[in-house]
Amino acid sequence: MGFNQLDNCPKCGKLFVKGIRDVCSDCYKLEEEEYKKVNAYLKKKENRQASLYEVSEATAVTVKQITKFIRQGRISLNDLPNMGLPCETCGEPTKTGSICPACRAKLTKQVESFVEREEKRIEEDKLKVKDIGYRHIKED
Ligand SMILES: [Zn+2]
Ligand SMILES: [Zn+2]
Repeated sequence: MGFNQLDNCPKCGKLFVKGIRDVCSDCYKLEEEEYKKVNAYLKKKENRQASLYEVSEATAVTVKQITKFIRQGRISLNDLPNMGLPCETCGEPTKTGSICPACRAKLTKQVESFVEREEKRIEEDKLKVKDIGYRHIKED
């Protein structure tokens, strides 16, 4: 069941019957119009070098909505070298839609220095334990 459930449209907040679509019929129609616009724009060879933001500007469709089309697989990135999904961290377009190479490198560095710090701390703890152990022996 789960189908034919009343829900609020995530876009306009109107009550609608939740089914195959995740938005109400009005918003769905609007999305279809926007999809047509984006699709028509990207069909033109001279527009294929455009970035996500340029497409958004040219079609007046939000980056978020275009991102949704890409995630849905309705817009293929194969012929669009400069299009991509925004990086989760900095918003720069990426091919995968997770984290861009620059942010990944930064993140890796952070993790590495964290691990280094942790290792150092563990070493220091070990030394402390040794120290305490040594003192105990001396006291006895
Ligand atoms: Zn709606
Ligand atoms: Zn990034």
